[in-house]
Amino acid sequence: MPIKQISIIGVGLIGGSFAKGLKARKHKAKIFGFGYSEHKLNRAIELGVIDEFSLNIKEAVKNADLIMVAVPMGSFKKVFQQIKPFIKQDAIISDAGSSKMSVIKAAEDAFGKKFTNFVPAHPIAGKEKSGIEATDENLYEQHKVILTPTKITDIKAVEKVTNLWQLLGATVIEMLPQEHDEVLAASSHLPHILAFALVDLLAKQKDLPNVFDFTSGGFKDFSRIASSDPTMWRDITLNNSTAIIKWLKNYQTELTKITTMVEQNKENELFQLFNHAKKTRDKHVLKKEKAKP
Ligand code: NAD
Repeated sequence: MPIKQISIIGVGLIGGSFAKGLKARKHKAKIFGFGYSEHKLNRAIELGVIDEFSLNIKEAVKNADLIMVAVPMGSFKKVFQQIKPFIKQDAIISDAGSSKMSVIKAAEDAFGKKFTNFVPAHPIAGKEKSGIEATDENLYEQHKVILTPTKITDIKAVEKVTNLWQLLGATVIEMLPQEHDEVLAASSHLPHILAFALVDLLAKQKDLPNVFDFTSGGFKDFSRIASSDPTMWRDITLNNSTAIIKWLKNYQTELTKITTMVEQNKENELFQLFNHAKKTRDKHVLKKEKAKP
């Protein structure tokens, strides 16, 4: 069955960019939005993000062949419960949540353990800006999208979701949900928490009232992601807490190791550690940056 209607629940940066990208690439489906602000949804139509919208969730999902849920992590449970009575029997549901185990659990709680049409997904793309004004039809070009189907997820549903992300220029890969949450805790969630922590720490120093007047490029680079949406990051942190706690503890161990090296003036060991980090970053991050057109 072709996808004739795609409904977006949560027409913000991620859901809105998914919708806008599909419309820009002339996908034939009608793109329907749901939200609570008429003003923002009218703006979404003006910006070419969606075709139509409803403030009534039943109206928004009852004819949908595919429903993309892109709400903050703390709202998935409520949204799944809300849409459950109104979805078509063969509707595919997918999401864009930043952690996968908690979203899969929320989907199981709402749709039942035998529901095969839920395709968990996470686009590895974004910005520190949120909302409809930040949407970008090319946000997913040359970015990875991780799908974490479970043992019961229908292969045809996975294929349909894969095709949509590929149309947006993304590379789709599959992972186990646990593996996804572990890797993303280390590669994305930990750096965001560290950026928030550093800025918060410095902001609270009464004996350094003008510290921010003396920050430069290094601080700007390190702290950029502390401008991300605090509600979103609170929700991500609490929804992937097991893996995040593990990585926060690993980081504390690393900092304790460095503190000891400094206290004991271990210049060789300190150099080895910094040099190993530099070489690793040059290989994995700088090289990728240089390869970009
Ligand atoms: P956003 O704030 O830009 O958009 C979220 C949208 O959901 C908003 O329009 C908000 O009004 C709406 N919303 C909130 N609660 C709702 C509800 N109960 N019902 C319907 N709509 C509701 O946030 P975003 O950056 O688009 O993030 C959305 C999801 O994508 C989050 O789960 C986030 O973890 C994930 N994600 C974000 C990024 C990123 O870099 N921003 C990257 C990958 C995944």
